[in-house]
Amino acid sequence: MSENNEYSFYAAVVKSFKKAAEFTKWDKGLLEQISACNAVYRMRFPVKKEDGSIEVIEAYRVQHSHHKTPCKGGIRFSMAVNQDEVMALAALMTYKCAIVNVPFGGGKGGIKIDPKKYTPYELEKITRRYTSELIKKNFIGPAVDVPAPDYGTGEREMAWIVDTYAAMHTHDIDAAGCVTGKPVSQGGVRGRKEATGLGVFYGLKEVLSMEEEMSKRGLTPGVAGKRIVIQGLGNVGYHSAKFFRDAGAVIVGVAEYEGSISKPDGIHVDELLEFRKRTGSILNFPSAVNLENNKAALELDCDVLIPAALENVIDGENAPRIKAKIVGEAANGPLTPEADEILLQKGVLVVPDMYLNAGGVTVSYFEWLKNLSHVRYGRMEKRFNENMNARILQEIEDLTGKKVNESSKTFINHGADEVELVYSGLEETMITATREIMAEWKANDHIPDMRTAAYVVAINKVATTYAELGIFP
Ligand code: NAD
Repeated sequence: MSENNEYSFYAAVVKSFKKAAEFTKWDKGLLEQISACNAVYRMRFPVKKEDGSIEVIEAYRVQHSHHKTPCKGGIRFSMAVNQDEVMALAALMTYKCAIVNVPFGGGKGGIKIDPKKYTPYELEKITRRYTSELIKKNFIGPAVDVPAPDYGTGEREMAWIVDTYAAMHTHDIDAAGCVTGKPVSQGGVRGRKEATGLGVFYGLKEVLSMEEEMSKRGLTPGVAGKRIVIQGLGNVGYHSAKFFRDAGAVIVGVAEYEGSISKPDGIHVDELLEFRKRTGSILNFPSAVNLENNKAALELDCDVLIPAALENVIDGENAPRIKAKIVGEAANGPLTPEADEILLQKGVLVVPDMYLNAGGVTVSYFEWLKNLSHVRYGRMEKRFNENMNARILQEIEDLTGKKVNESSKTFINHGADEVELVYSGLEETMITATREIMAEWKANDHIPDMRTAAYVVAINKVATTYAELGIFP
């Protein structure tokens, strides 16, 4: 249970798991093993702040499943961090990785701090000390457990982690693979930063292309013209909004920490972020309307609502007032089980977190593979493909006696760069996962919602791994 409030996020995850397990054929003991958290590391360590005072920091790392190793999952810096939350998020990672066919067990880490209250120097000390604690207990390493960014952390923190790990593992040639989401200069992969938001976009785009699902909700298929509301303009929310806008959708509302705004003819998120940087707030953005409070945008009339901040933002209290036809869970656990039930009754399609925001871990997998192979994607084949394409085009021109125009020529001849290969791998992953979950849902009339269908897909994949290992007959 949560230490700070009576609501248990982990219990909510277990509840969803049990609901889905009913639709599978697996042994009760095996299901129990899949659902259980394998290892929980709770630590306390001191940090000396710049003013000379000493503070004791509370932190966690949870390895939910070892059915595949390494474990994988982000590290969160937030005052809401507690053991219950980290366990829930680690469990979601196990199911997420299974759904998108990424060969990891689920993990998650958290440090209970408000990063805004520390200087960069203090944050670096905390991050490096946390990494040392993980090393001491063998809770980090390219073959063991590989963290990544999450709420409140980014490339900078990942760079501190890899540097600390590498300094203490000078003979480990794969040390760069101990963490993902690193800056490209430190072994990161191009496309990782925007990966979760881009994955949210690819997943929802696939859902929005499904004629039957759209007509049930009075929508036409396609992204163009869809009215979107985003909560949280951080890494995930900003990139989701950006890719939707680039594809012709209209961002009609945005909620941030300090308040929320609406603008029916569309918000340009780059301009909004620029405005926020200048003024310190999204409020009073030119020609937008300030709403009552920071949650009000969630209740705007729109086609797709994308919560991309934190968990439990839609509960039994505000769920009846949600007007969106589709909720895309970019954040982890944005709906309480009660809200889930209410939205289901209202006919809202909830596209679940544990696959929709899997873009981050998918591209983290690409980054980890890059670190283990020690070569940039595209390095070996880019020039070869360009030469081959040019040759084919030349042959076609010679045979037909016609010339291709210069811009088409450049496009056809082009060999893929790292970022293009990463985007392509991510798009393929999200489309496949969406179709697989929808197929599971359609194959069984009794499965009530997409979340349950996603859990069924995940359970079947994890259980199959155990069964194939011969651990459970
Ligand atoms: P982030 O720290 O970059 O951004 C979070 C944003 O939410 C911030 O801009 C913050 O100000 C805003 N916010 C906080 N409280 C709010 C409130 N009450 N109302 C409106 N906005 C609020 O974090 P992120 O990495 O974008 O993560 C967001 C969510 O996505 C989390 O649930 C995280 O677990 C999930 N997620 C992140 C990744 C990733 O790759 N970063 C991957 C999978 C899932």
